[in-house]
Amino acid sequence: MDEDKVPLGEVFRRLIRSTGPISVAQFMGESNARYYGGRDPFGQGGDFVTAPEVSQMFGELIGLWCADMWVRAGREEPVHYVELGPGRGTLAKDALRAAKRYGFEPRVHFVETSQSLKDVQLETLPGAYWHHDLSTVPMEGPVLLVANEFLDALPVRQLVRTAGGWRERMVGLEGDAFVFVAGTQPMDSAVPAELRDQPEGTILETCPAAAAVVYEVAGRLKEQGGAALFIDYGHAETTMGSTLQAIARHQKVDPFAMPGEADLTALVDFATLARVAQSRDARHLGTVTHGEWLSALGIEARAEALMARAPHLREEITLARDRLAAPDRMGTLFKVLGLAAPFWPDGAGFAPPV
Ligand code: SAH
Repeated sequence: MDEDKVPLGEVFRRLIRSTGPISVAQFMGESNARYYGGRDPFGQGGDFVTAPEVSQMFGELIGLWCADMWVRAGREEPVHYVELGPGRGTLAKDALRAAKRYGFEPRVHFVETSQSLKDVQLETLPGAYWHHDLSTVPMEGPVLLVANEFLDALPVRQLVRTAGGWRERMVGLEGDAFVFVAGTQPMDSAVPAELRDQPEGTILETCPAAAAVVYEVAGRLKEQGGAALFIDYGHAETTMGSTLQAIARHQKVDPFAMPGEADLTALVDFATLARVAQSRDARHLGTVTHGEWLSALGIEARAEALMARAPHLREEITLARDRLAAPDRMGTLFKVLGLAAPFWPDGAGFAPPV
């Protein structure tokens, strides 16, 4: 049988039986590569619904934010719109339509690893350039970069405090069932000194892949000019514990239940990412909640304008606005991290109004 067709759970079992437990990071990374590689998971009929799929208002406000930054920074050309993990391309389509009115007509670059989502994106925005990673995105001209629910899909590394000190958290087997086990190598030196003294069982989760992406983006901002928005669910402050979870068909499922068939995510540690960006001299414009940011950008007025044009959709538009911005929906758990080049202006929605 073609290796791609063998259920991933079976591939993992074979691997663990022959070479021993695998790291949580490897389990998550390979599960999501298989998951996104073979499907379009979005929408009511899929596994989950993201903000751009809830309403066009989301992408439009992001497009206006990008246009506003670029206009106030001096309208430098060529300018690039870069999106990481663009899903169906819905956000980009809505953003670029709204931004065009302000003369922002950038070259469009999508960074995407999934072949099946690439095909969907090609239909949505036929003029876009595709990249496997950021390295091939042009080095000349400012970059307006957007990543919505991208970082949460990148593999996390977990360390666990055992009686014998810190160890890598691994996935092993008990019979046919996956179980968490502690690795054998001491990992104390990988834990910052002030965090080492924790009760047995404490888990420390980090996301080296997210830090690497933000490091690269911040470097690009400094060199090329531009600004970036990272939007995801996560903590404004670093915390302890595992946040790994799996979603399939709009339900939380056991992350071990169906590797490669469920979306594995972890909360994003925004405080660490802001520090990484600052270490490369990018400006941290701020980290605010989805609700605050969308309100500051005028989601209310945008909803009113849409309702005036389509009164029969009043209820649908109100529901979408609440879903995106209300504190008990996506409004508080989701955050927006804004970055900019050193001499670029403040970003709308981050600085307090004066
Ligand atoms: N931004 C979209 C999709 C979010 S889902 C939306 O809001 O609807 C995560 C996206 O990231 C998918 O497009 C997935 O294929 C992509 N992705 C996941 N891991 C990736 C990686 N390592 N490199 C590039 N894209 C990746």
